Amino acid sequence: MSSAVNRRNGGAGYRHGATKVHRPPPSLNDSLDGEVRAFLTDEDQLHTYDDLTKVNPVTPTTVLKCLQARYSVKVFYTHAGCTLVALNPFQPIPHLYSLEVMKEYHCAPQPQEFKPHIYIVAEEAYRNVKGQVEPVNQSLVVSGESGAGKTWTSRCLMKYYATVAASSSVVKSQDTVERIERRVLDSNPIMEAFGNACTLRNNNSSRFGKYIQLQLDRCQLLVGASVQTYLLEKTRVAFQPANERNFHIFYQMIKGATDEQRKEWKMPHGENFAWLPNSEKTLEEDCFHETVEAMVHLGINAERQRLIFRILAGILQLGNVNFSSSSDESQTCNLDEQSKDFLQRAAELLCVPAEELQTCLRVKMLKAGKQSVHKPCPQTECSMRRDCLAKVIYAGLFEWLVTFINNSICADKSTWCNFIGVLDVYGFECFNLNNLEQLCINYANEKLQQHFVAHYLQAQQEEYVSEGLQWSFVKYQNNQSCLDLIEGSPVSVFSLLNEESRLNRASDAKTFRVRLEKELCDNANISWDKFSKLPHFTVAHYAGKVNYQIQGMVAKNKDPVPPELINLLQKSDNLLLHQIFTNKEDENLTTKGLSKVTVVSKFKVIVQLEACGIVETIHISAAGFPIRIPFKDFVQRYALITKYSNVKSGSHRVDVKAASNNVLRQEVEKLLRVTVQRRKAFDLSHNLGSEKQN
Ligand code: ATP
Ligand code: MG
Repeated sequence: MSSAVNRRNGGAGYRHGATKVHRPPPSLNDSLDGEVRAFLTDEDQLHTYDDLTKVNPVTPTTVLKCLQARYSVKVFYTHAGCTLVALNPFQPIPHLYSLEVMKEYHCAPQPQEFKPHIYIVAEEAYRNVKGQVEPVNQSLVVSGESGAGKTWTSRCLMKYYATVAASSSVVKSQDTVERIERRVLDSNPIMEAFGNACTLRNNNSSRFGKYIQLQLDRCQLLVGASVQTYLLEKTRVAFQPANERNFHIFYQMIKGATDEQRKEWKMPHGENFAWLPNSEKTLEEDCFHETVEAMVHLGINAERQRLIFRILAGILQLGNVNFSSSSDESQTCNLDEQSKDFLQRAAELLCVPAEELQTCLRVKMLKAGKQSVHKPCPQTECSMRRDCLAKVIYAGLFEWLVTFINNSICADKSTWCNFIGVLDVYGFECFNLNNLEQLCINYANEKLQQHFVAHYLQAQQEEYVSEGLQWSFVKYQNNQSCLDLIEGSPVSVFSLLNEESRLNRASDAKTFRVRLEKELCDNANISWDKFSKLPHFTVAHYAGKVNYQIQGMVAKNKDPVPPELINLLQKSDNLLLHQIFTNKEDENLTTKGLSKVTVVSKFKVIVQLEACGIVETIHISAAGFPIRIPFKDFVQRYALITKYSNVKSGSHRVDVKAASNNVLRQEVEKLLRVTVQRRKAFDLSHNLGSEKQN
């Protein structure tokens, strides 16, 4: 298979470093049919198949069988053509990732001849950056369902580069190199503390997408990195699904705080916080000390840390503020004594006037022409405003952290020339209840899959044909129709959602549902269960069908932030909070009015992947045939060994394609001559041997 050849020859670039299978495969005896068994020869040897392309026939069942055979002998990596499949061992395997193993793969002339490993992918990309003729930036896409091991794999890749790109250091002082590697690696615990949470599927589930570019200088040393994040699931701050948790950082604080810190954060022992469910669970990730240490390495000094933790503590206090409705609608909602206390604590920690905080949560400001009218909010709206305040603060803080990290690890543009990108986005999700968050996550996965299909399967095959190579087209599943359903124009789920969000109707959920049914009824990728109690629509994704709840989707898409809340935060005496909201140029957070940029319209910017160079990298290197050298360069490089050695670029007007062919022909002839000679020599010795025996 061409993709296998690609790897064997250390081919150009793109690897879909997939963590595609994440659980011990189920017992295959249950799922195998007799027909498949009949085809599979050497069943005892299946565990030795280091490339799934060797399995014959290739069916989901045979592939699964092979992976299970390997898993049972503790082999977790298997090639699948241009893709590496990583099985999650669900236990630490230190010897698999030791420094020695890293060095083995890095120093081997042909690492791809070693056992399949994530380090082969890493090393291949590292060598490809250098390029055969000229440098080619590389990007590694790690994909798989939640819990598959994407973040683990991304960390492995980063550690690999931080080690091998430093060990080859000859130019920089060891100090500089060490410092930057450490900082790059230290960005992980911080971002995971603030962006990961324990979910039903994964104790350390990433609740944001991440694309990290490792910047390399001319000598291929790691000189810096930049991080881009996508769609933090900020709703988790104020709402945690059943049996799941809030972001790790809150639990780390509670568990790791000194008595002095607890006092400062107004969190006495034994106090319960509504937004901290399942805190009795102890996770490996509850490691406050590690987060703080990483912050120090990245230059977040003690004072800044103090401001950050006060903000976080303020958010938790806010979660314990509850409103009860007033008998008179013209009056503001009531706060009981406990809630008043928590509100007071929140105000002190966020450094905003308590009175003003109370008003902002309970009274809305309406514009009537040039006049502003103040109106008490009903109970549910008060709670929504409280949640909104918490979410906007947390999202702002996360964004500030990412910017800070970037400032700390990003190299000056003049010092780096190439990069290796690692993309770790949230995996495909399908729960009992799915909403806008899952739609965006699954859309991102759909989009990545489409890039893979378009740039690997399609482009590769088209190129073979255009180059006149013998090739029979391999059919593949194209998910473009599903993408058209979600994001296409003129009518799609996103376009209708955005329109409903802009129209701002009171009954938006109902009209959204009616419009979906009416305007997308011809699309085969969407369906409805008209009798279901909870209105929803079902999308047939490449990875399976998912039901999306309609209720709440328009509101989530609008993601409105009342301007009063932003005004309040701008007045904060917590310098960090003040800075975050004063510098915000985001349209979403202007004081002029509610958000105009909807969540999905922002998220569609995941096309940024293209801007990040991922897509073009995929374009360039998603190749079946491994080495793609322009005719001119080829002649220039190899003509030396032939009679075309006088060909220099530009110096002769030669037909470079014909010259390349001639170079190849000469080489083939030479090879044939050698083979014939060897064959003759073999026959001769064989004959002599037989004569002797006779
Ligand atoms: P999500 O989409 O929810 O973020 P993910 O694909 O990023 O999921 P990880 O967090 O990387 O999943 O992996 C889940 C857990 O599986 C890890 O916390 C770790 O315990 C374990 N794990 C994954 N890969 C490995 C590995 N190669 N060796 C040991 N443990 C692993
Ligand atoms: Mg993850």
